[in-house]
Parts: sequence; structure tokens; C-alpha cells
Amino acid sequence: MPLVTSNELLLEAQREGYAIGAFNANNMECVKAVIEAAEEERAPVILQVSQGAIKYAGLQMATEMVKTVAEEASVPVVLHLDHGTSFLQNVQCLHAGFTSLMYDGSAEPLGKNMEVSAKICEIAHAVGLPVEAELGKIPKIEDYVTAEEADDLRARPEPEQVRILREKAGPNVEELMADPSQAQRFVEGTGIDSLAAAVGSIHGMWADSWPLRRDRIEELRKATNLPLVCHGSSGVIRTRADAEEKGIELKPNECTLEEAVQIGICKVNVATAVSMAFLKGAWDAWQERLNEKDLRKILLPGLQSAKELVRGYMRLFSCSGRVSGTSAVAASEVKHAE
Ligand SMILES: [Zn+2]
Repeated sequence: MPLVTSNELLLEAQREGYAIGAFNANNMECVKAVIEAAEEERAPVILQVSQGAIKYAGLQMATEMVKTVAEEASVPVVLHLDHGTSFLQNVQCLHAGFTSLMYDGSAEPLGKNMEVSAKICEIAHAVGLPVEAELGKIPKIEDYVTAEEADDLRARPEPEQVRILREKAGPNVEELMADPSQAQRFVEGTGIDSLAAAVGSIHGMWADSWPLRRDRIEELRKATNLPLVCHGSSGVIRTRADAEEKGIELKPNECTLEEAVQIGICKVNVATAVSMAFLKGAWDAWQERLNEKDLRKILLPGLQSAKELVRGYMRLFSCSGRVSGTSAVAASEVKHAE
């Protein structure tokens, strides 16, 4: 089916208390992994193009990959710009056929962030497209640890990683969180459709062990009543059961990804975890057959591994089973078998 806009999907998710997964379109295999997962889970899905993907694949290639798979898909697919850098880039993506835009003005003063977000909303809304904008600043792990420190941290047990990161990053992550009293003014002054609010997460973490701030999500939800977007979700601990199993203690004002969805997160961005699952699948396949000459035989297990991870996230977000009908992939497999 043709691409759909994120607005209708996110509003329904908000009404029904689930979230749509937003996964990054970094290469053909990851795009296919996400679409196959969405088909099999019967879940609507957002494929987003990041600044890194634009540099790596080029805007046109990234766009066309998503459009092509969406056309063949039997579930709704959104093509979203992730962390758009400027008004001009948003115009380029609108022109290229994106069905959902984003401006990240978190590095700018609030006034400038609002001004550019409002300008993008004006042109996007004129053609029926929704806009996401960022309030507060969602940091990245590289802001707190060097590559060597990250290697050292990753070798330690997860509870210790969290304890060290709480010391190194905790106070700054808290300082950067979106301010609920600003949020209402930001939303009213810009007209945005969804809010990427900093609620305690960190981009680019290698393991799902870090909590979100429950109190801040609840306050922002109350202040704006907009669908909230969680960035940096790869690093967020998924469930209470996971926290217990890993021995990670959550403070009373913290929550897991599953709980965050229940209290107002309607779009969950997962990039690093998909990339790592893909690499692991491909790496394991290559280790088993180092003499393999056909790259597809190494990349396909990467795709399968990324797909399984995406399916797990869709179930965690209660997004599975939201689309009626049967999978186009399953249907084509039946056709091949006949
Ligand atoms: Zn992000």
C-alpha cells in the first residue's frame, strides 16, 4: 500500500495505549528486516531516515528503498525524517515524498527552536504532513564516555555499567530533560504533532539497561496531550522482569520501556539495537563459514537476526496484531510453495 502519514497512526496508538516502532532505514537488508517483521506481526511501522543514513546511502536511495517496500507491504508504513537538521532539509524531504518530518533544534536556543519548528509545521501542514520536534536534549553516549571507556564499561556486569553511568552521565541527563512548563508553550507556539522530549534516555547505548523517568513522561503527557516520542530506546531497560533478571534496580521515579508506553510514549525509536542484531547475525554466519564467497549468505542471517529483534520490540509495544489481514510475505511464501 502507499506510504501513510504518522499522524493517524500515532493518534490511534495514543488512544489505545500502545506505541509504533520506528526503525532506521540504513541499508536494504535492515529495511527488509523491518518490513518483514511488521508483516509477520501485523503491525503498522515507521521507517526513518537518519542523518547518518543520508550520508551513507544518499537521500534518494534511502527514500526509494522505503517507498519500494511500502508499496508491496500489506501493513501501513510511514517514511519519517529522523533528527532533521534544518528548514531546508525538511523541505527537501517533503519534496522527496516523506510522510512525516522532524526538526531537531535542541542545540539552538528555545526561541530559535520554536521559530524553525513552527515554520516547518506551516509548510508541512499545508500538504497534510505531521511534524515531530525535540524539546530538551537527548544526549548520546559519546557525550559521556570515550571509545576506550565504553570498551571497558562493556566488559563489566550490567548493574555495574549502570552504576558507573549514573555517576558519569546521570546529573547531566537530568539537566537536559524537557521542562514540562516549557513544553506546553512549545507545543502551542509551534503546532507540532508529536514531541520528542528528553525523558532520561541516551542515544547509542549498546545494551538495554538504562531506565526512563516516569515522572517526567507523566508531566509532559499532562502538559501537552501530544503523542510522545522516545529516542535512544535501544539502551532502555525493556521490562521489570528484565531489570530483576539483570539485577538492575530502578528508582521510584523511573520506569521501563514497557511502562513508558503504557503512560504515554506512542513512538519508540530503535536504531542501535537493530544495527547490533544485524551485525551479530552476519558475524556468526561468517564465523561458521569463513570461506563463503556469496555475501548474501552472510547478510541474510543478519537480516533474520534484525527481524527477530524488531518483532520482539513490536510485541513489547503492544503494536502486534493491530492490522487485520494476512502477511504479504506469508502469502508469497505459500505461492512459492505451490
Ligand atoms: Zn534520536
